[in-house]
Amino acid sequence: MTLHYYEALARPAQPRGCVLVTGSNRGIGLELVRQLAASPWPPHHIFATCRHPEGPRGKALRDLAAQHPSIKLVQLDTVNVPSIQGAVRAVDSHLKDQGLNLLINNAGVSSHATLHSLDSQEMLSVFATNVVGTLQVTKVRVELLAKGAGKEGLSCSRAAVINVSTKLGSIGLCLGVLQAPMYPYRASKAAQNMVTRCLAVELQEKGILCAAIHPGWVKTDMGTEEAPLMVEHSVRGILTVLASLSQDTSGTFLDWEGNSLPW
Ligand code: NDP
Repeated sequence: MTLHYYEALARPAQPRGCVLVTGSNRGIGLELVRQLAASPWPPHHIFATCRHPEGPRGKALRDLAAQHPSIKLVQLDTVNVPSIQGAVRAVDSHLKDQGLNLLINNAGVSSHATLHSLDSQEMLSVFATNVVGTLQVTKVRVELLAKGAGKEGLSCSRAAVINVSTKLGSIGLCLGVLQAPMYPYRASKAAQNMVTRCLAVELQEKGILCAAIHPGWVKTDMGTEEAPLMVEHSVRGILTVLASLSQDTSGTFLDWEGNSLPW
């Protein structure tokens, strides 16, 4: 039987869990927070982080947080070191001695560029968010995740880092290069995938699961209206896949339906 993530969290003797999501003011991140909070057994704390929680871009998230006490809004720009440090302090003040169970590195930026139109600054900026930001946020939360880890094997309800990736970053697939020329985005997600593989190896001994997930082509600002998949559907799939992850699937690249993808 397939368990949804929040059903897995509610297993007897499991803590109710604490989850942190980056880039949660819109798109897939917002829907992740919405579905986690609306579950019959919501995580104890959902740290819904975004760059501008107080501005107009944070309104949907603020409205959601007003309905769910489990949601804690935290300012976090994943490429800004003082912001990362401020988020660490804010999260720690809520958690006290509790560990963190799940970190979802969802924040990301896209960039369309052909070989001809490629701009080096733009490419570096995409790498800063999709690769460096993901790694920096993980780095400062590893010890907190290790605190949430148990001794009985790996799972997302104990301690996990999930990096939201894309099929477009798969070197093995090398999908539609000419139809979707996106050198910076594809290369950054391929690099992020390597980060996920390395983290899976290094963090295993701390009891932390790591995996990459492709959400499908989703109707969001990034995915555009052309995308075939509704965000609710994608996120329901992602959360179901997260509940199924274990020691055996740590270090893998899966899509929102649980299919394995080549790196
Ligand atoms: P959106 O463009 O709709 O949302 C992106 C989110 O990331 C926003 O909340 C944005 O915040 C945030 N963000 C960007 N840069 C930073 C930063 N430096 N610090 C913190 N937050 C940041 O994208 P999606 O929801 O569609 O995408 C989410 C993830 O899914 C991304 O990693 C993307 O690569 C991946 N993905 C999406 C697909 C799709 O079809 N939609 C397909 C495959 C993968 P702000 O509002 O402040 O800009």
